[in-house]
Amino acid sequence: MQPSDGAVYQRLFAQVRQQHQQCASAPPWYSVPAHSTNFGDRFRTDIHGNLLQQEPIIVLHETVASAQSALNFFQTSHPRDEDQASYHELITLNGWILHLVPWSKRAYGAGNSTFGSETVQTNPRLAPSVNNFALHISLETPPQGRHNGQHHQGYTPAQYQALGWLIAQTGIPPARVTTHAAVDRSGERIDPRSFSFATLNRYWQTDRPC
Ligand SMILES: [Zn+2]
Repeated sequence: MQPSDGAVYQRLFAQVRQQHQQCASAPPWYSVPAHSTNFGDRFRTDIHGNLLQQEPIIVLHETVASAQSALNFFQTSHPRDEDQASYHELITLNGWILHLVPWSKRAYGAGNSTFGSETVQTNPRLAPSVNNFALHISLETPPQGRHNGQHHQGYTPAQYQALGWLIAQTGIPPARVTTHAAVDRSGERIDPRSFSFATLNRYWQTDRPC
């Protein structure tokens, strides 16, 4: 396996960051770096030496816990592989975007997972996953949804607005925006629960100009 400098993702971030600075109505966006044990390099090749050429995808999640307790987890050192987890961005209930992991790096948002037939194995001890070509964006779960049930009342308009703005700026096409539930192969992940793509699409279209 050869590490990648993540230049494609770095350029994407720089482009979105510049658009954020130029857009007065853009959502607040703060940097809250995750501890470096919770993410790693992207790779140019997989464990078999195959050159990797997947285009980026966006994978949506929810925190289940509060944003604060999720942040506490991501900012804590986790030396053991099985304890490490992170997203690139987290969107709070009030519509703030929290930048956790550089886009040039591989956030550990999904374990055993595949996007269609696209999946990459970068660790011989772990199942293939989408992490190598994913941008992971998580939504803070509303207080009444902090349980293991199948549903909750859903996300706030401010969250959809911030998410719609962020996704639109990346230029990543709708066909490559998915959910953890959709890419999961473990049978254990159902997030983001009660998420509405129809609602997202309304903000995605109307917020595109800025
Ligand atoms: Zn998830």
